[in-house]
Amino acid sequence: MKIAISMLLLTIITSAWAQEKSQSDLGGLLPADAKVEKLAGGLQFIEGPAWMPAGFLVFSDIPADEIKKWDGQNVSTFRAPSNNSNGNTIDGEGRLISCEHSGRRVVRMEKDGSLTVLADSYQGKKLNSPNDAVVQTDGTIWFTDPPYGIPKGQKQEQGHNYVFAIDAKTKELHAVASDFDHPNGLCFSPDEKKLYVADSGKPRHIRVFDVAAQHTLENGKIFCAIDKGVPDGIRCDKDGNIWSSAGEGVQVFSPEGKLIGKILVPEAPANLCFGGADGKTLFMTARTGLYSIRTNTTGARGIFQGGTR
Ligand code: MG
Repeated sequence: MKIAISMLLLTIITSAWAQEKSQSDLGGLLPADAKVEKLAGGLQFIEGPAWMPAGFLVFSDIPADEIKKWDGQNVSTFRAPSNNSNGNTIDGEGRLISCEHSGRRVVRMEKDGSLTVLADSYQGKKLNSPNDAVVQTDGTIWFTDPPYGIPKGQKQEQGHNYVFAIDAKTKELHAVASDFDHPNGLCFSPDEKKLYVADSGKPRHIRVFDVAAQHTLENGKIFCAIDKGVPDGIRCDKDGNIWSSAGEGVQVFSPEGKLIGKILVPEAPANLCFGGADGKTLFMTARTGLYSIRTNTTGARGIFQGGTR
């Protein structure tokens, strides 16, 4: 009897340890000694991290009206004014794509520093306030358009909070989803057959779609729900796991939508991206602070293209 009880206790202790272990390293996605590090503070409200091919991080400070640069040591101004940019991503040619709140448009920064407007209206009406974007291998740019950043005194002109795609060849803007409350972060699976879109409005969940020809979405379903806070920025790693911002930090889900674990962060991250010299650092923009943690994985899109998928 005593032996049976001892065995039972041992089993309970071992399984509790295993659970603790799997939560701390996220089933091997993080090194065992990985720790959240604060890289910079004193910012206003930061969003949209993107790792530039030149080897530094950019991110938006929305109220400060600047895109910032973190060079591994210091934070400086990368572009100002930014028209209160929010989400940033990198295209296949290494160019920075930015979603502007007060500009109510999506822009691309060319190699000479000039900006090209990629989208600012749909059916003759102003966009709401583009929030986040992702670029497909063929160059099609997908972005979300909730109304969070419409400047005071201006009106919402669109009848929906759309998810849009800018066709790589024709440059035409297509509404690909109109039934989101507040569509926000988005990312592709490694094979680009699935698109994940966060809804940071009432549903507080992430939906997944099959990507069909002619940039249309099919078979939409709920992928996962966020239990604390809302899903804002999301990223996919090379194995198809989804890393989502949430109220208490970052929540990581398997390709089947099962919660693998959480990374707790002192401030609530609004967005995240993979980057660093080897692509294995996860950067998190969290209110007034920029944070990072080392991982054992990379973004679905690889190292020098922003790791943004
Ligand atoms: Mg966002």
